[in-house]
Amino acid sequence: MHAAELIEHKRNGAELSAADLREFIAGYVRGAVPDYQAAAFLMAVWFRGLTPAETFALTDAMVASGETVDLAGRLGRRVVDKHSTGGVGDKITIAVGPVVAACGVPFGKMSGRGLGHTGGTLDKLESIPGFRVELTTDELVEQVREIGIAVAGQTADLVPADKRLYALRDVTATIDQVSLIAASIMSKKIAAGASAVVLDVKVGEGAFMRTVDDARELAREMHALGEQAGMDVVCVLTDMDQPLGRAVGNALEVREAWETVSGRGPADFRELVVDAAGQLLALSDLGVDEEEGRLRAEQALGDGSATAAYGRWVRAQGGDPDPDRLPSAPVVRLVPAPATGYVRKLAAREVAVVAMELGAGREVAGEPIDHAVGVVCLRKRGEEVAAGEPLAEIHARDEAAAEAAEAALLAAYEIGDEPEPRPLVLDVIR
Ligand code: URA
Repeated sequence: MHAAELIEHKRNGAELSAADLREFIAGYVRGAVPDYQAAAFLMAVWFRGLTPAETFALTDAMVASGETVDLAGRLGRRVVDKHSTGGVGDKITIAVGPVVAACGVPFGKMSGRGLGHTGGTLDKLESIPGFRVELTTDELVEQVREIGIAVAGQTADLVPADKRLYALRDVTATIDQVSLIAASIMSKKIAAGASAVVLDVKVGEGAFMRTVDDARELAREMHALGEQAGMDVVCVLTDMDQPLGRAVGNALEVREAWETVSGRGPADFRELVVDAAGQLLALSDLGVDEEEGRLRAEQALGDGSATAAYGRWVRAQGGDPDPDRLPSAPVVRLVPAPATGYVRKLAAREVAVVAMELGAGREVAGEPIDHAVGVVCLRKRGEEVAAGEPLAEIHARDEAAAEAAEAALLAAYEIGDEPEPRPLVLDVIR
Protein backbone atom coordinates (compact mmCIF):
# COMPACT_ATOMS: atom_id res chain seq x y z
CA MET A 1 0.00 0.00 0.00
CA HIS A 2 1.35 3.48 -0.86
CA ALA A 3 1.78 5.90 2.03
CA ALA A 4 -1.11 8.12 0.83
CA GLU A 5 -3.44 5.09 0.64
CA LEU A 6 -2.46 3.98 4.12
CA ILE A 7 -3.20 7.48 5.47
CA GLU A 8 -6.56 7.46 3.67
CA HIS A 9 -7.41 4.04 5.15
CA LYS A 10 -6.70 5.22 8.66
CA ARG A 11 -8.48 8.52 8.06
CA ASN A 12 -11.57 6.52 7.03
CA GLY A 13 -11.38 4.38 10.16
CA ALA A 14 -10.23 1.12 8.53
CA GLU A 15 -7.83 -1.28 10.26
CA LEU A 16 -4.28 -1.41 8.88
CA SER A 17 -2.39 -4.66 8.45
CA ALA A 18 0.83 -5.40 10.32
CA ALA A 19 2.70 -5.65 7.00
CA ASP A 20 1.50 -2.22 5.84
CA LEU A 21 2.41 -0.59 9.15
CA ARG A 22 5.84 -2.19 9.12
CA GLU A 23 6.50 -1.00 5.56
CA PHE A 24 5.30 2.52 6.38
CA ILE A 25 7.53 2.80 9.47
CA ALA A 26 10.54 1.29 7.66
CA GLY A 27 9.93 3.73 4.78
CA TYR A 28 9.77 6.66 7.19
CA VAL A 29 13.06 5.73 8.84
CA ARG A 30 14.92 5.30 5.55
CA GLY A 31 13.54 8.60 4.21
CA ALA A 32 11.16 7.19 1.59
CA VAL A 33 8.14 8.48 3.53
CA PRO A 34 8.48 12.24 4.15
CA ASP A 35 7.62 14.03 7.40
CA TYR A 36 4.42 15.49 5.94
CA GLN A 37 2.98 12.04 5.27
CA ALA A 38 4.07 10.76 8.67
CA ALA A 39 2.43 13.83 10.25
CA ALA A 40 -0.82 13.16 8.36
CA PHE A 41 -0.72 9.54 9.50
CA LEU A 42 -0.22 10.60 13.13
CA MET A 43 -3.16 13.00 12.94
CA ALA A 44 -5.37 10.30 11.40
CA VAL A 45 -4.38 8.02 14.30
CA TRP A 46 -5.09 10.80 16.77
CA PHE A 47 -8.67 11.06 15.48
CA ARG A 48 -9.35 7.39 14.69
CA GLY A 49 -7.20 5.58 17.27
CA LEU A 50 -5.53 2.21 16.76
CA THR A 51 -6.94 -1.25 17.42
CA PRO A 52 -4.94 -3.48 19.83
CA ALA A 53 -3.60 -5.41 16.81
CA GLU A 54 -2.51 -2.19 15.11
CA THR A 55 -0.85 -0.89 18.30
CA PHE A 56 1.07 -4.15 18.62
CA ALA A 57 2.08 -4.06 14.94
CA LEU A 58 3.19 -0.41 15.22
CA THR A 59 5.25 -1.18 18.34
CA ASP A 60 6.79 -4.19 16.63
CA ALA A 61 7.62 -2.14 13.54
CA MET A 62 9.22 0.54 15.71
CA VAL A 63 11.35 -2.05 17.58
CA ALA A 64 12.39 -3.51 14.21
CA SER A 65 13.48 -0.08 12.94
CA GLY A 66 16.79 -0.32 14.83
CA GLU A 67 19.05 -2.46 16.98
CA THR A 68 17.89 -4.28 20.08
CA VAL A 69 19.90 -5.03 23.21
CA ASP A 70 19.64 -8.26 25.15
CA LEU A 71 20.60 -6.65 28.44
CA ALA A 72 19.31 -9.48 30.63
CA GLY A 73 20.92 -12.12 28.38
CA ARG A 74 24.29 -10.34 28.34
CA LEU A 75 24.32 -9.95 32.12
CA GLY A 76 22.92 -13.40 32.80
CA ARG A 77 20.54 -11.84 35.34
CA ARG A 78 17.03 -10.49 35.38
CA VAL A 79 17.34 -6.76 34.75
CA VAL A 80 14.66 -4.34 35.92
CA ASP A 81 13.73 -1.01 34.43
CA LYS A 82 11.30 1.75 35.24
CA HIS A 83 9.67 4.41 33.12
CA SER A 84 7.47 7.39 33.80
CA THR A 85 4.97 8.66 31.27
CA GLY A 86 6.15 12.18 32.08
CA GLY A 87 5.54 14.54 34.95
CA VAL A 88 6.65 17.66 36.78
CA GLY A 89 9.37 17.33 39.41
CA ASP A 90 9.64 13.65 38.56
CA LYS A 91 13.17 12.68 39.55
CA ILE A 92 12.31 9.12 40.59
CA THR A 93 14.86 7.37 38.38
CA ILE A 94 17.72 9.31 40.01
CA ALA A 95 16.72 8.04 43.46
CA VAL A 96 15.27 4.62 42.64
CA GLY A 97 18.26 3.46 40.57
CA PRO A 98 20.77 3.67 43.46
CA VAL A 99 18.27 2.10 45.89
CA VAL A 100 17.68 -0.89 43.61
CA ALA A 101 21.42 -1.24 42.88
CA ALA A 102 22.19 -1.05 46.61
CA CYS A 103 19.81 -3.99 47.09
CA GLY A 104 21.86 -6.08 44.61
CA VAL A 105 19.61 -5.86 41.55
CA PRO A 106 21.06 -4.70 38.21
CA PHE A 107 19.51 -1.43 37.04
CA GLY A 108 20.26 -0.50 33.44
CA LYS A 109 18.16 2.22 31.93
CA MET A 110 17.91 4.41 28.89
CA SER A 111 16.26 7.73 29.67
CA GLY A 112 14.98 10.65 27.67
CA ARG A 113 15.02 14.42 27.57
CA GLY A 114 12.16 16.72 28.47
CA LEU A 115 9.06 16.57 26.31
CA GLY A 116 6.57 19.44 26.23
CA HIS A 117 6.25 20.82 29.75
CA THR A 118 7.63 17.63 31.37
CA GLY A 119 11.23 17.29 32.50
CA GLY A 120 13.68 14.65 31.29
CA THR A 121 16.07 12.55 33.38
CA LEU A 122 19.00 13.16 31.00
CA ASP A 123 18.69 16.93 31.35
CA LYS A 124 18.61 16.55 35.13
CA LEU A 125 21.66 14.27 35.17
CA GLU A 126 23.59 16.69 32.96
CA SER A 127 23.40 19.28 35.75
CA ILE A 128 25.90 17.10 37.65
CA PRO A 129 29.38 18.47 36.76
CA GLY A 130 31.12 16.08 34.36
CA PHE A 131 28.26 13.56 34.10
CA ARG A 132 28.29 11.77 30.74
CA VAL A 133 24.87 10.62 29.50
CA GLU A 134 26.13 9.26 26.20
CA LEU A 135 27.25 5.68 26.73
CA THR A 136 27.57 3.07 24.02
CA THR A 137 25.54 -0.07 24.53
CA ASP A 138 28.72 -1.94 25.48
CA GLU A 139 29.65 0.72 28.03
CA LEU A 140 26.17 0.56 29.53
CA VAL A 141 26.29 -3.22 29.85
CA GLU A 142 29.82 -3.17 31.33
CA GLN A 143 28.92 -0.49 33.85
CA VAL A 144 25.85 -2.40 35.00
CA ARG A 145 27.99 -5.53 35.28
CA GLU A 146 30.67 -3.73 37.31
CA ILE A 147 28.75 -1.40 39.60
CA GLY A 148 25.14 -2.50 39.19
CA ILE A 149 23.74 0.69 37.66
CA ALA A 150 23.93 2.81 34.52
CA VAL A 151 21.54 5.43 33.11
CA ALA A 152 22.21 6.71 29.62
CA GLY A 153 20.57 8.36 26.66
CA GLN A 154 18.96 6.17 24.08
CA THR A 155 21.60 5.37 21.43
CA ALA A 156 20.84 6.57 17.91
CA ASP A 157 20.47 2.97 16.74
CA LEU A 158 17.80 2.01 19.25
CA VAL A 159 14.25 2.56 17.94
CA PRO A 160 15.19 5.32 15.45
CA ALA A 161 11.54 5.36 14.37
CA ASP A 162 10.53 6.64 17.81
CA LYS A 163 13.21 9.32 17.81
CA ARG A 164 11.76 10.79 14.61
CA LEU A 165 8.09 10.20 15.39
CA TYR A 166 8.46 11.61 18.92
CA ALA A 167 9.93 14.86 17.57
CA LEU A 168 7.22 15.05 14.91
CA ARG A 169 4.42 14.39 17.42
CA ASP A 170 5.79 17.14 19.65
CA VAL A 171 5.22 19.75 16.92
CA THR A 172 2.00 18.38 15.37
CA ALA A 173 -0.24 18.20 18.46
CA THR A 174 -0.25 14.40 18.38
CA ILE A 175 1.52 13.60 21.64
CA ASP A 176 -1.55 12.89 23.73
CA GLN A 177 -2.89 9.81 21.96
CA VAL A 178 -2.93 6.70 24.13
CA SER A 179 -1.80 4.13 21.52
CA LEU A 180 0.98 6.39 20.21
CA ILE A 181 2.29 6.94 23.75
CA ALA A 182 2.04 3.20 24.51
CA ALA A 183 3.90 2.25 21.32
CA SER A 184 6.55 4.95 21.90
CA ILE A 185 7.30 3.90 25.47
CA MET A 186 7.03 0.14 25.02
CA SER A 187 9.09 0.00 21.81
CA LYS A 188 11.99 1.53 23.77
CA LYS A 189 11.50 -0.74 26.78
CA ILE A 190 11.33 -3.85 24.58
CA ALA A 191 14.36 -2.85 22.48
CA ALA A 192 16.43 -2.06 25.61
CA GLY A 193 16.10 -5.65 26.82
CA ALA A 194 15.03 -5.48 30.48
CA SER A 195 13.18 -8.49 31.88
CA ALA A 196 10.64 -6.48 33.85
CA VAL A 197 9.49 -2.91 33.97
CA VAL A 198 7.56 -0.73 36.39
CA LEU A 199 5.61 1.92 34.51
CA ASP A 200 4.69 5.02 36.47
CA VAL A 201 1.63 6.34 34.68
CA LYS A 202 1.15 9.95 35.71
CA VAL A 203 -2.41 11.24 36.04
CA GLY A 204 -3.64 14.78 36.42
CA GLU A 205 -3.33 18.22 35.05
CA GLY A 206 0.48 18.08 34.94
CA ALA A 207 0.46 14.80 32.98
CA PHE A 208 -0.37 13.79 29.42
CA MET A 209 -3.25 11.70 30.82
CA ARG A 210 -5.64 14.04 32.60
CA THR A 211 -8.11 11.45 33.97
CA VAL A 212 -7.75 8.14 35.80
CA ASP A 213 -9.81 6.44 33.06
CA ASP A 214 -7.43 7.61 30.30
CA ALA A 215 -4.42 6.64 32.41
CA ARG A 216 -5.92 3.17 33.01
CA GLU A 217 -6.41 2.73 29.28
CA LEU A 218 -2.78 3.72 28.62
CA ALA A 219 -1.62 1.38 31.39
CA ARG A 220 -3.61 -1.54 29.97
CA GLU A 221 -2.24 -0.97 26.47
CA MET A 222 1.35 -0.82 27.70
CA HIS A 223 0.80 -3.86 29.91
CA ALA A 224 -0.53 -5.87 26.97
CA LEU A 225 2.38 -4.79 24.72
CA GLY A 226 4.92 -5.79 27.38
CA GLU A 227 3.32 -9.17 27.99
CA GLN A 228 3.18 -9.91 24.25
CA ALA A 229 6.93 -9.23 24.19
CA GLY A 230 7.56 -11.57 27.15
CA MET A 231 8.19 -8.84 29.70
CA ASP A 232 6.74 -8.60 33.22
CA VAL A 233 4.99 -5.27 33.59
CA VAL A 234 3.48 -3.48 36.58
CA CYS A 235 1.74 -0.13 36.00
CA VAL A 236 1.30 2.26 38.90
CA LEU A 237 -1.05 5.20 38.36
CA THR A 238 0.20 8.16 40.40
CA ASP A 239 -1.04 11.68 41.05
CA MET A 240 0.38 14.45 38.88
CA ASP A 241 -2.00 17.30 39.76
CA GLN A 242 0.84 18.91 41.70
CA PRO A 243 4.61 18.52 41.25
CA LEU A 244 6.25 15.47 42.79
CA GLY A 245 8.46 16.44 45.73
CA ARG A 246 9.23 20.12 46.12
CA ALA A 247 11.88 20.86 43.51
CA VAL A 248 11.23 21.57 39.81
CA GLY A 249 14.35 22.37 37.80
CA ASN A 250 17.33 20.24 36.93
CA ALA A 251 20.04 20.75 39.58
CA LEU A 252 17.39 21.44 42.24
CA GLU A 253 15.81 18.06 41.44
CA VAL A 254 19.14 16.22 41.53
CA ARG A 255 19.80 17.71 44.97
CA GLU A 256 16.34 16.58 46.16
CA ALA A 257 16.93 13.08 44.75
CA TRP A 258 20.32 12.94 46.53
CA GLU A 259 18.73 14.08 49.81
CA THR A 260 16.11 11.36 49.44
CA VAL A 261 18.69 8.70 48.63
CA SER A 262 20.49 9.86 51.78
CA GLY A 263 17.41 9.15 53.90
CA ARG A 264 15.80 12.60 53.90
CA GLY A 265 13.74 14.30 51.18
CA PRO A 266 10.04 15.16 50.89
CA ALA A 267 7.54 12.55 52.12
CA ASP A 268 5.56 12.15 48.87
CA PHE A 269 8.68 11.66 46.79
CA ARG A 270 10.20 9.23 49.28
CA GLU A 271 6.93 7.25 49.34
CA LEU A 272 6.96 6.78 45.56
CA VAL A 273 10.66 5.91 45.56
CA VAL A 274 10.12 3.17 48.17
CA ASP A 275 7.02 1.97 46.32
CA ALA A 276 8.74 1.76 42.94
CA ALA A 277 11.84 0.13 44.45
CA GLY A 278 9.64 -2.42 46.25
CA GLN A 279 7.91 -3.30 42.97
CA LEU A 280 11.23 -3.54 41.10
CA LEU A 281 12.81 -5.79 43.74
CA ALA A 282 9.72 -8.03 43.65
CA LEU A 283 10.13 -8.33 39.85
CA SER A 284 13.85 -9.13 40.15
CA ASP A 285 15.58 -12.47 40.77
CA LEU A 286 15.95 -11.81 44.52
CA GLY A 287 12.86 -13.92 45.18
CA VAL A 288 11.22 -11.37 47.49
CA ASP A 289 7.67 -10.07 47.53
CA GLU A 290 6.73 -6.39 47.34
CA GLU A 291 6.52 -5.98 51.10
CA GLU A 292 10.01 -7.38 51.60
CA GLY A 293 11.18 -5.26 48.65
CA ARG A 294 9.88 -2.13 50.36
CA LEU A 295 11.60 -3.07 53.62
CA ARG A 296 14.91 -3.57 51.82
CA ALA A 297 14.47 -0.24 50.02
CA GLU A 298 13.81 1.52 53.36
CA GLN A 299 16.90 -0.11 54.78
CA ALA A 300 19.06 1.04 51.83
CA LEU A 301 17.79 4.59 52.36
CA GLY A 302 18.61 4.43 56.05
CA ASP A 303 21.98 2.68 56.20
CA GLY A 304 23.96 4.73 53.66
CA SER A 305 24.14 1.96 51.04
CA ALA A 306 21.92 3.84 48.56
CA THR A 307 24.08 6.97 48.95
CA ALA A 308 27.17 4.86 48.31
CA ALA A 309 25.55 3.37 45.17
CA TYR A 310 24.65 6.89 43.99
CA GLY A 311 28.29 7.95 44.42
CA ARG A 312 29.62 4.91 42.53
CA TRP A 313 27.13 5.47 39.71
CA VAL A 314 27.80 9.18 39.26
CA ARG A 315 31.57 8.71 39.41
CA ALA A 316 31.42 5.84 36.90
CA GLN A 317 29.77 8.23 34.42
CA GLY A 318 32.41 10.92 35.01
CA GLY A 319 30.37 13.07 37.39
CA ASP A 320 31.02 14.57 40.80
CA PRO A 321 28.45 13.22 43.29
CA ASP A 322 29.03 16.02 45.83
CA PRO A 323 25.69 17.92 45.89
CA ASP A 324 27.57 21.13 46.76
CA ARG A 325 29.14 20.99 43.29
CA LEU A 326 25.74 21.27 41.58
CA PRO A 327 25.22 24.62 39.84
CA SER A 328 23.20 27.19 41.78
CA ALA A 329 21.30 30.22 40.55
CA PRO A 330 22.57 33.71 41.46
CA VAL A 331 19.12 34.96 42.51
CA VAL A 332 16.90 33.14 45.03
CA ARG A 333 13.63 34.91 45.70
CA LEU A 334 11.13 33.88 48.40
CA VAL A 335 7.51 34.15 47.32
CA PRO A 336 5.33 35.15 50.30
CA ALA A 337 1.83 33.67 50.74
CA PRO A 338 -0.84 36.25 49.87
CA ALA A 339 -3.28 34.88 52.49
CA THR A 340 -3.55 32.57 55.49
CA GLY A 341 -5.02 29.10 54.93
CA TYR A 342 -4.30 25.75 53.38
CA VAL A 343 -2.86 25.16 49.95
CA ARG A 344 -5.89 23.81 48.09
CA LYS A 345 -4.21 23.53 44.74
CA LEU A 346 -0.73 23.73 43.28
CA ALA A 347 -1.10 23.43 39.52
CA ALA A 348 1.71 21.21 38.22
CA ARG A 349 1.56 22.43 34.62
CA GLU A 350 1.74 26.09 35.64
CA VAL A 351 4.73 25.41 37.90
CA ALA A 352 6.40 23.58 35.00
CA VAL A 353 5.80 26.56 32.71
CA VAL A 354 7.32 28.93 35.29
CA ALA A 355 10.41 26.69 35.54
CA MET A 356 10.59 26.45 31.76
CA GLU A 357 10.39 30.22 31.35
CA LEU A 358 13.16 30.62 33.92
CA GLY A 359 15.23 28.50 31.52
CA ALA A 360 14.93 25.01 33.07
CA GLY A 361 13.18 23.53 30.00
CA ARG A 362 13.14 23.96 26.26
CA GLU A 363 10.52 25.43 24.02
CA VAL A 364 12.28 24.13 20.92
CA ALA A 365 14.08 20.78 20.66
CA GLY A 366 17.86 21.07 20.97
CA GLU A 367 17.81 24.43 22.80
CA PRO A 368 20.32 24.74 25.65
CA ILE A 369 18.87 24.80 29.15
CA ASP A 370 19.92 26.49 32.36
CA HIS A 371 20.53 23.70 34.86
CA ALA A 372 20.64 25.96 37.92
CA VAL A 373 17.23 27.61 37.73
CA GLY A 374 13.78 26.44 38.82
CA VAL A 375 11.27 26.48 41.62
CA VAL A 376 11.09 24.93 45.08
CA CYS A 377 7.50 24.58 46.33
CA LEU A 378 7.92 25.09 50.08
CA ARG A 379 4.20 24.49 50.61
CA LYS A 380 2.13 21.91 48.76
CA ARG A 381 -1.49 20.75 48.73
CA GLY A 382 -2.91 20.26 52.22
CA GLU A 383 -0.16 22.23 53.96
CA GLU A 384 -0.94 25.30 56.06
CA VAL A 385 0.60 28.70 55.53
CA ALA A 386 0.22 32.13 57.15
CA ALA A 387 0.01 35.30 55.07
CA GLY A 388 3.53 36.58 54.40
CA GLU A 389 5.21 33.23 55.11
CA PRO A 390 7.26 31.79 52.24
CA LEU A 391 5.19 29.69 49.86
CA ALA A 392 7.91 28.94 47.34
CA GLU A 393 11.44 29.80 46.23
CA ILE A 394 12.32 31.00 42.75
CA HIS A 395 15.87 30.26 41.58
CA ALA A 396 16.59 32.61 38.70
CA ARG A 397 19.43 33.87 36.54
CA ASP A 398 18.58 37.53 37.32
CA GLU A 399 16.14 39.75 39.21
CA ALA A 400 14.02 40.47 36.14
CA ALA A 401 13.42 36.76 35.52
CA ALA A 402 12.60 36.23 39.21
CA GLU A 403 10.17 39.16 39.13
CA ALA A 404 8.39 37.77 36.06
CA ALA A 405 8.16 34.30 37.60
CA GLU A 406 6.65 35.46 40.89
CA ALA A 407 3.20 36.43 39.62
CA ALA A 408 2.96 33.31 37.46
CA LEU A 409 3.92 31.09 40.37
CA LEU A 410 1.37 32.72 42.67
CA ALA A 411 -1.28 32.01 40.03
CA ALA A 412 -0.43 28.30 40.30
CA TYR A 413 -1.43 28.33 43.99
CA GLU A 414 -4.92 28.38 45.46
CA ILE A 415 -5.16 29.06 49.19
CA GLY A 416 -8.33 28.53 51.21
CA ASP A 417 -10.05 25.85 53.29
CA GLU A 418 -8.40 22.51 53.99
CA PRO A 419 -8.72 20.31 50.88
CA GLU A 420 -9.78 16.65 50.79
CA PRO A 421 -6.69 14.45 50.95
CA ARG A 422 -5.85 12.78 47.62
CA PRO A 423 -3.87 9.53 47.51
CA LEU A 424 -0.55 9.51 45.72
CA VAL A 425 -1.06 6.05 44.22
CA LEU A 426 -4.39 5.91 42.39
CA ASP A 427 -4.29 2.35 41.02
CA VAL A 428 -1.93 -0.53 40.33
CA ILE A 429 -2.32 -2.77 37.27
CA ARG A 430 -0.41 -6.06 37.32
N1 URA B 1 7.21 9.31 26.94
C1 URA B 1 7.61 8.63 25.83
O1 URA B 1 8.66 7.98 25.81
N2 URA B 1 6.82 8.67 24.73
C2 URA B 1 5.66 9.36 24.71
O2 URA B 1 5.00 9.33 23.71
C3 URA B 1 5.25 10.07 25.87
C4 URA B 1 6.06 10.03 26.98
